Amino acid sequence: MPLAGLASVAIAVAGFAPGPSAAAPQPEVDTTPSYYSFKLPAGVTVAELVRDGYDITHGHGTRPTLVATPAEVARLRDRGVLVGKTGNVYQPVIRTASDLAGTTYYGGYHTAAGHEQHNAAVTAAHPELVKLYDIGDSWKKTKGQGGHDIQALCITKLTSGDCALDSTSGKKPKFVLHTQIHAREVATGEIAYKWIDLLVSSYGTDPAITSLLDTRELWVIPIANPDGVDVVASNPTQPVMQRKNVDNSAGGCPAADAGVDLNRNSSFQWDVEQGGPCDETYPGKRAVSEPETIAIQGLLDKIFRDTKGAVGEPAAADTTGVFLTLHSFGNDILAPYGYTNTAAPNKAALVALGKKMGALNGYPVSTGDGGVGYFAPGATDDWLYGTRGVPSYTFEIGPDSGSCGGFFPSYSCFTSTLWPAQKPALLYAARAAATPYGKLP
Ligand SMILES: [Zn+2]
Repeated sequence: MPLAGLASVAIAVAGFAPGPSAAAPQPEVDTTPSYYSFKLPAGVTVAELVRDGYDITHGHGTRPTLVATPAEVARLRDRGVLVGKTGNVYQPVIRTASDLAGTTYYGGYHTAAGHEQHNAAVTAAHPELVKLYDIGDSWKKTKGQGGHDIQALCITKLTSGDCALDSTSGKKPKFVLHTQIHAREVATGEIAYKWIDLLVSSYGTDPAITSLLDTRELWVIPIANPDGVDVVASNPTQPVMQRKNVDNSAGGCPAADAGVDLNRNSSFQWDVEQGGPCDETYPGKRAVSEPETIAIQGLLDKIFRDTKGAVGEPAAADTTGVFLTLHSFGNDILAPYGYTNTAAPNKAALVALGKKMGALNGYPVSTGDGGVGYFAPGATDDWLYGTRGVPSYTFEIGPDSGSCGGFFPSYSCFTSTLWPAQKPALLYAARAAATPYGKLP
């Protein structure tokens, strides 16, 4: 679909909005980001460009994609990088009534407040199936600047001991779906929203899902980075490209560049070299510096027993549980480890389960850097597998371009393709949580 009129629109991003005293006419600078493929000259690496602050996303199964403004493209061309535009970041959007009410944005995606209303509503409507937890605060909330609680739901046919914050009391294997830790990866939180609705509406009517709720604890952390999602949704027709949380305490950055990459902030293989405070992969001042990381590691630490020894030792064969963290984009599944190309000790079993899920959503499975030349140390999935032994995966949702691709797919694609592709893979992952390293379903 053509994007008439978008190309010359300057986007109002926090920190770059023209000041009220801008009386003299200013030359209009096109700051519209687009997606690009690129080819590097000899001696320049992807890792180097990421460290220099360029926004490059993987796709381990595909080539990495650059998200850049025209000025950034010009600077890269000066360095000898060949750059070719592959698509527009923003799709045309029809605003809905709920967009105007603030519970959704960009044609239907739920805001952090919209998710919180939903979490409260399903908990109230299904007290026999849902326990809602406040697992900690967002960075803004810890600073008294508004912000949010980080919420987690445990969905199961509740019996004694279920959904306790204690790895020894429950008998049911646990499946955890963790989404929108990178705020701009908007399809991911929406998948969690649909997943919650599917589970609570199917109990007693769909035999397979009823059985799942009778025998599993299905945990969901729908918005892992609510402060970031508030920034994204602050422009409801051209969402802001906020990946990180909004912790600006390191200083030295324009507001739009500040924040900590929560998917580099975990305490397993945390790496200070991932970038400076203005970079998209800034890992924070130290491991687990961020309240969001404390909340999420804290929950997972409580509900999963530790079946794994040192980095190079395998998890016990009777480990239970599966953890999925959803990201965008690239249409692929990443299995541990993501911080190194050295094989995880359970690599064969991790890849085998990954391939079962991949057969359902059509995604290939890769490990390590997937051949793209940079790693993700300090990520949530590596932390949970590396410290607890729980099989943990990243799904990169959606293709790298087109109206149903990138960070901001049209909402209509979400309902037609993005959710239907993931639903069977999620149901499978939940079933597999009983014997992830044993005989797979
Ligand atoms: Zn991500």
